[in-house]
Amino acid sequence: MLHKLEKLPYDMDALRPFISKETLLVHYGKHHRNNLDKLNELIKGTVFENLLLDQIVLTAPSGAIFNNAAQAWNHSFYWKCLSPAGGGVPRGAIASAIQRDFGSFGAFKIEYARKALSTFGSGWIWLTLDDSGNLGISSTQNADSPLARGVTPLLVLDIWEHAYYLDHQNNRAKYLESFWHIVNWDFVAENYALALSERPFRIAHVRLKQAPEYAAREAAAHDMSGIEKLGSGAAAVLRRATSWRSPTAMRPRRSWAFGGGAP
Ligand code: MN
Repeated sequence: MLHKLEKLPYDMDALRPFISKETLLVHYGKHHRNNLDKLNELIKGTVFENLLLDQIVLTAPSGAIFNNAAQAWNHSFYWKCLSPAGGGVPRGAIASAIQRDFGSFGAFKIEYARKALSTFGSGWIWLTLDDSGNLGISSTQNADSPLARGVTPLLVLDIWEHAYYLDHQNNRAKYLESFWHIVNWDFVAENYALALSERPFRIAHVRLKQAPEYAAREAAAHDMSGIEKLGSGAAAVLRRATSWRSPTAMRPRRSWAFGGGAP
């Protein structure tokens, strides 16, 4: 299937003065689009050709397909984490969970900032929910995704320099300051509620990553040529892997189905 660039949930100039139209034109219009164009090209004729974006992220070995799929997914998620009506403080269950796991909203922000400012190079800063129901803050390098680690993303900040260079040059702290003004806490709250109600889905993520077939394939296919070498064996592994998502417990997830056309 062809993975299409999803429409931004707001106008290009709606996040001003925190994120400029110029940044979005390049970041969304070029970087994000480029990930999808490359992905569409790379998956042609492979076992990944007919999978949804998150299925590719969950099953692709390290390499170009994973990088472009994860980067496309991460960007779709990031756009939704921002809103011109965002900022302020979270409310409801997610606010209570933040208080429970970090002490206070202020302490959460300090911890998140510490992670964002201490992470070297390009990547993403996440608020996630693990299978024990605990919130956590973590960073992933380059295109890596928490989906691939069996935890559920609730919020993300893109810390690649392309996300802030035009607005703040190399000043990541100023970008982070802007970020707090436009965080879409309603989206975070929705992700939290969904993650709590779909625990079996998250356990399936963990099982998928722990499966011996997956480990073997991961080891055997660290580059694109590996995928071709695996041939129909990889297709069989993939069928088994994705069948874990088809039982009734694995309901379609509206917040996960980014990119791509209809399944
Ligand atoms: Mn980016």
